[in-house]
Amino acid sequence: MTFLNKVETKLPDQSKIIDKLTNEVTELRNLNARLSSILDFSMDMICTVDEVGVFVSVSQASYQILGYKPDELIGRSQSDFIYHEDHEKTHHARKLVKEGQALTNFENRYIHKNGTVVPLVWSSRWVPEEKLRYGIARNATEKIKAEETIKASEKKYKDLFENNPAPMIIWDFKTLDIVDCNKEALIKYGYNREEFLSLNIRQIRPPEDIHLIEEITLSEEEYGKKHKKTWRHLKKNGEIMIIDITGHIIDYNGKRCVIVMLNDVTEKVSLQENLEKQKLALEVSNKELEQFAYIASYDLQEPRRMITGFVRLLMKKYSDKLDQTALSYIGHAVDGAERMKVLILDLLEYSRAGIKEDQVIEINLNDLVNDLISLYKNQVDQQTIKIEIENLPVIKCHRSPIRQVFQNLISNAIKYRRTDVNSLILISCEDGGDFWNFSIRDNGIGISQEYFDKIFVIFQRLHSKNEYSGTGIGLAMTKKILESLGGKIWVTSKVGEGSTFYFTIPKEM
Ligand code: ADP
Repeated sequence: MTFLNKVETKLPDQSKIIDKLTNEVTELRNLNARLSSILDFSMDMICTVDEVGVFVSVSQASYQILGYKPDELIGRSQSDFIYHEDHEKTHHARKLVKEGQALTNFENRYIHKNGTVVPLVWSSRWVPEEKLRYGIARNATEKIKAEETIKASEKKYKDLFENNPAPMIIWDFKTLDIVDCNKEALIKYGYNREEFLSLNIRQIRPPEDIHLIEEITLSEEEYGKKHKKTWRHLKKNGEIMIIDITGHIIDYNGKRCVIVMLNDVTEKVSLQENLEKQKLALEVSNKELEQFAYIASYDLQEPRRMITGFVRLLMKKYSDKLDQTALSYIGHAVDGAERMKVLILDLLEYSRAGIKEDQVIEINLNDLVNDLISLYKNQVDQQTIKIEIENLPVIKCHRSPIRQVFQNLISNAIKYRRTDVNSLILISCEDGGDFWNFSIRDNGIGISQEYFDKIFVIFQRLHSKNEYSGTGIGLAMTKKILESLGGKIWVTSKVGEGSTFYFTIPKEM
């Protein structure tokens, strides 16, 4: 009785405990179910693996990632699914995990049920109390693809930099150390890569230019102002190069750096300097020559006058005592002295040609040319010569030299006309950008191609004085004038058909 009573009195308590336990078990089951469904919802494959590498539990994601349902993996060794090349590194990683290291971002490859290879990224931890390894694996296909795309694009830029035909250098804006360069830079400076990357940009400058770097690297703003500049750079062998640079500030491997493209202009500059020197020497020698021609022609006039004077005196006083031959000799001497006078005057004029004494003014070439044509009024009126003017502009130039040019060329076109046809002369102009391009075309006797250069040389003529008057100075003078104005002249022609003289004048004097 006592016992029964005891039992009876205890029963309500026990049933409470059983209820409580039942509730707790149910709660635990629910929790477990919720946890499993959370795990199964994960896109990553979450699993536990025992000591020998056999799957104990696997989340549903295994199906998406490897094509196996969890049941097909549980109880099987991981090694059965690992890509053969990755066995060794996986084995090593597992060892480390078991020794207590937490593993993150470990990459290996599994074989999908369909035979394809799937890259996985793992995080794992060993839980000794449970003798289980917990692991989370993510399909890394997209990540690897993205990495490969980035790598390919990096390689493309690296290749562009490395193989750029222009030398390129990258230097640290703070320390001025050279941090990268391309092949061409190494060739240009004569260093190997290791040597070059141990330098800073002061060391590729002649010592006397180093202060200039300090000035422009004070601030990024200061550098930005001078990002295009010409520098003197030093090669390994001590040679100095003149370099045009274009530089830009960039972020490079986490540092503020300057990427610089270099253009070696040493040869160009020395060529330019030589040209300048030659030009100067030529100007000096031209000046001297002009002075010489001027003085010589001036001084020659005096003895010429003396010769003419005495020969005339000889003629006057002794003409009755001399025979015909002697008289004709004296006649030739007078003639020669006269010719000499003309030549000397021409030489004098030539030596002065191109000296720009007058101001640059606006010249209406229509007016100027019409004025010149009026000198040939008779022939024009009789319609034996027709002169046409086309598109003549108003130009800015010195008046007398330009008048001289047109006069020489128009008078030649008239002088060297054919007598069997009416003469037609066309004077025209085209706008050539920085220059005016003129042409004077005639239908005259023409010039054989072999003389195209010779006719511009002083005193060079293609005809005797009896055929056509002249001393052969007109074109030489025209050329000299045009060159002194910054233009040029040339001819094209066909014997018997006519000639075209082309010349240019710069628009700005
Ligand atoms: P010049 O007329 O006094 O001989 P230029 O220097 O003006 O001297 O001309 C040199 C030569 O060029 C002339 O002797 C002539 O043979 C040739 N020449 C010049 N202009 C013409 C032309 N329009 N047609 C044919 N020949 C020409």
